[in-house]
Amino acid sequence: MTRPLRAFIDLHALRHNLDCVRRLSPDSKIMAIIKADGYGHGLQRVAAALHQANAFGLASLEEALQLREAGIAHPLCLLEGFFEPAELPPLTRHRIATVIHNEEQLQVLEQSRLAGSLDVWIKIDTGMHRIGFPPERLAEVLNRVTAIGLISRIGIMSHLANADDPADAYTDTQIAAFQSACDPFTKECSLANSAGIVAWPASRLDWVRPGIMLYGASPVHDRDPATIGLQPVMRLESRLIAANRFRKGDAVGYQGAWVCPEDMPVGVVACGYGDGYPRHAPTGTPVLIDGRRVPLIGRVSMDMITVDLRDIPDPRVGAPAVLWGDGIAVAEIADRAGTIAYELLCGVTGRVPRIEVEHGG
Ligand SMILES: *Cc1c(COP(=O)(O)O)cnc(C)c1O
Repeated sequence: MTRPLRAFIDLHALRHNLDCVRRLSPDSKIMAIIKADGYGHGLQRVAAALHQANAFGLASLEEALQLREAGIAHPLCLLEGFFEPAELPPLTRHRIATVIHNEEQLQVLEQSRLAGSLDVWIKIDTGMHRIGFPPERLAEVLNRVTAIGLISRIGIMSHLANADDPADAYTDTQIAAFQSACDPFTKECSLANSAGIVAWPASRLDWVRPGIMLYGASPVHDRDPATIGLQPVMRLESRLIAANRFRKGDAVGYQGAWVCPEDMPVGVVACGYGDGYPRHAPTGTPVLIDGRRVPLIGRVSMDMITVDLRDIPDPRVGAPAVLWGDGIAVAEIADRAGTIAYELLCGVTGRVPRIEVEHGG
């Protein structure tokens, strides 16, 4: 590996964040959500580090099979369920639970001859209006699923739409709708994502489903992750590969989007949108050079960004450049670029080597 860009993955922080979930919801089981390659941190790596979780939530059979091949024996759950009838045999063979959220999946299940037992989560729509059966249909769906032989466990699941805003009463409405739907049945229930776990205690119930908070980003709008006790897991770090002096009036980079207001040093960091750094990060987005915050200037290129080095007394090629991690929250960069931490973490591309460390390393 020659190019200096790395994504350091702090396994201690990952375990610490799981402990944080446990502390917040001591009476709930934890389905750790590790879809999208563990939010960009590496599927198997994250599953192994989070072995204390009670189950893992995924988006596809392929992800689940990768974990089984790696020897992970935990309960696994496909959060959107299966997409094809042909997925049912591997689900039963590898003991992978499925969500069912629509009539089509239910009919496939009813018409299939299962080769082994299958765990099912019935997803109901309490206001997210994305996937799920209407709550009024829960009794009927439960009856039909129960009537299918070989369904061993049935849970009830729903998803919160606005839980990241602690002032939005819509979440109370969803919690109440979920509770009244589940109340008549003695089934395991699951509603809370990370934001629910942190900001809505009444949503915690039998199973919680943390995703983003495990990776150390705050699930709640405008809340510093440290105040929740979370530690960032990924540190995206590269180096300064050039430190040039330009003249007042010199235009830097594509479209000359930065024009030097005076004679000044300009640094180049080996990281760009080809690595998953957001192309829309504007001038002023912070980068940590040698531990000091400096502003990004001009356009983000595929492999490089340029930074204003006027505040670095003796800029040297090879100095460490942290794009996000400790001291510079991924959510802060996301916010500058008009997106969310989830997208940046999932978006770190395959060419960036992931390096496992403990305690920052
Ligand atoms: C992705 C996902 C989660 C995790 O959400 P976070 O906001 O990352 O905590 C929980 N439940 C379901 C159904 C999901 O798809």
